[in-house]
Amino acid sequence: MKTTRIVIAGGGFAGLYAAMHFDKRLARRADVEVTLISRENFILFTPMLHEVAAGDLYPGDIVNPLRRILRHVKFVDADVQAIDLNARRIRCIASVADRELEFEFDHLLLTLGSETNFFNMNGVRDWSVTMKSLSDAALLRNRMVALLEEASLQSDEAARRQLLTFVTAGGGFSGTETTGAVNDFVRETVRYYPQLSEDLIRVVVVHPGNFILPELGEELGRYAEHKLRERKVEVIKGQRVANYDGVVVTLSDGTSIPAATLIWTAGVNPSPVIAQLPCEKERGRLLVSEYLAVTGVPGLWAAGDCAAVPILDAENFHPPTAQHGIREGVTVAKNIEAMILDRSLKSFRYKMMGQLASIGHHTGVAMVFGIKFSGFIAWWFWRSVYLMKLPRLAKKLRVMASWTLDLFFGQEIEQMITVRDIEALSGQLARIRARTKSGSEETKHERPIALN
Ligand SMILES: Cc1cc2nc3c(=O)[nH]c(=O)nc-3n(C[C@H](O)[C@H](O)[C@H](O)COP(=O)(O)OP(=O)(O)OC[C@H]3O[C@@H](n4cnc5c(N)ncnc54)[C@H](O)[C@@H]3O)c2cc1C
Repeated sequence: MKTTRIVIAGGGFAGLYAAMHFDKRLARRADVEVTLISRENFILFTPMLHEVAAGDLYPGDIVNPLRRILRHVKFVDADVQAIDLNARRIRCIASVADRELEFEFDHLLLTLGSETNFFNMNGVRDWSVTMKSLSDAALLRNRMVALLEEASLQSDEAARRQLLTFVTAGGGFSGTETTGAVNDFVRETVRYYPQLSEDLIRVVVVHPGNFILPELGEELGRYAEHKLRERKVEVIKGQRVANYDGVVVTLSDGTSIPAATLIWTAGVNPSPVIAQLPCEKERGRLLVSEYLAVTGVPGLWAAGDCAAVPILDAENFHPPTAQHGIREGVTVAKNIEAMILDRSLKSFRYKMMGQLASIGHHTGVAMVFGIKFSGFIAWWFWRSVYLMKLPRLAKKLRVMASWTLDLFFGQEIEQMITVRDIEALSGQLARIRARTKSGSEETKHERPIALN
C-alpha cells in the first residue's frame, strides 16, 4: 500500500487549521501520513500579543501547544531550511543539537507566515525591538520595567527622559495596539517609582500615512488618534523612521527623538524559505490559484501570510490577517483531500466580517459588517470576540481569570526574565548542545535523517 505523504510547514493560523482538518479526516487513514513542522511547538494568538506587553496577560495564556490539539497529525518541532521541489524533499534543523532532518512529500503546504522587514536599515535592525513573537511581547514588558528601574537610579533629567521615551514605527494594527499597551503600562507603573514622575514619560507613534489604523478607514483612524492623544501619546503622521542608533530615532524629515526604545512594526516580508523558491511571486508572497495551489508546481500549496490569494472577480489579493489565514487553511486542506480522493476542488471565497482594535485604557475601535463604532463598547466587543476565538477552553478560562483579576487588582509589574536569567539559560543550552553533539559523534549520520 502506497502512503501519501502530506507535509505542512508552519504551525500558525493557516497551518494549524489545515492540520486540524486533516486530523479529523485524512490523518486517520492508514494510507495517508500528515506531518506538521513548525519551529515552535505552540500556536501564538497574535491578536492578544499586546496584552502580554501591557502586563494584562501572562505569555502562557495566549499560546496553545500543538501536540495537545492534534492527535493523528505528527508534529515535528524544527526549523525549515530549504525545499527541493525536484526531489520533493524538505530539509530542516531541529533540537538544541542542530539535528538535520529531511522529509519527503507528495503534497507540501507552505504556511510559514511572514518575518519583520527592516528595509535594509541596519541600525533599526540592530537596535529596535519587534512585536511578532511571544518573546517579543514578554521582553518588551521586561524592558519597560528595566528602563523604569534604570531611570529611577539616574540623576540626570535628560538621561531619564531618554530612558522613558518609547517610539513605535508604524501605525497599523500591531503598531497602534502596541503603542496603547506600552502607554498604559508605563504610565500606570511609574507611580510605584517615587523618584520618577509621569511627565518624564514620552510615548510616540510614527506613521507614514495621513491617519493611523488605515485598515479601519479614516473616521476610526482619527478617533483612535484623538483617544491616544488624550492619553498623552504623540502621533506623528506623514513621516517614516529613517534611522536608529540605539540612542536617537531619526525621522524622514530629519527630526531627532532621543529614545531608549524603538518598537518596529513598520513592515513584513515573507519567510526567506519562500524567497528561495523558483515560483511565481506577488510582492514576495507565493502566487496561488483560487484553489490555493502554487502556480506551476503540482502538489505545492500555500496559505496565510506567505501566499498571495486572489480575490475572485477582482484584481486584488486577500489581506494577510488571522481571520483569512484560518479560512484559507481549512479550504486548502479540503482541496488537498479532494485531490487525493479524486474529487473536485473548491475556490477560496471569504468576505471579511469586520476588524477590531484595542487602543488601550479600555477603549477600542471597530468596523463590523460595515458598521463603525468605538469607545468602551468596541473594547468590550474586542475582548469578547477574541476570547471566543482563542483556541481551547483551558486558555479561555485562564484569560478570563487574568482579565477579571486585572480589573480588581491592576496589572502585574514584575520582571519575568532578568538579564541574569537569560545568561544562565544560554549557558545551559550551550552545555546541552555540546554534550548532545559529542554524544552523537559515534552515530553521526553522513546524510540528514529522513523521517518518512
Ligand atoms: C502583533 C500582531 C497583532 C495582530 N493582530 C491581528 C488581529 O487582531 N486580527 C487578525 O486577523 N490578524 C492579526 N494579526 C495578523 C495575524 O497574526 C497573521 O495574519 C496570521 O498570524 C497569519 O497566519 P499564518 O498562519 O500565515 O502565519 P503565522 O501565524 O505567522 O504562522 C507561521 C508559523 O510558521 C512558523 N515558521 C515560520 N518560519 C518557519 C521555518 N523556517 N521553519 C519552521 N516554522 C516556521 C512560525 O513559527 C509560525 O508558527 C496580527 C499580527 C501581529 C504580529
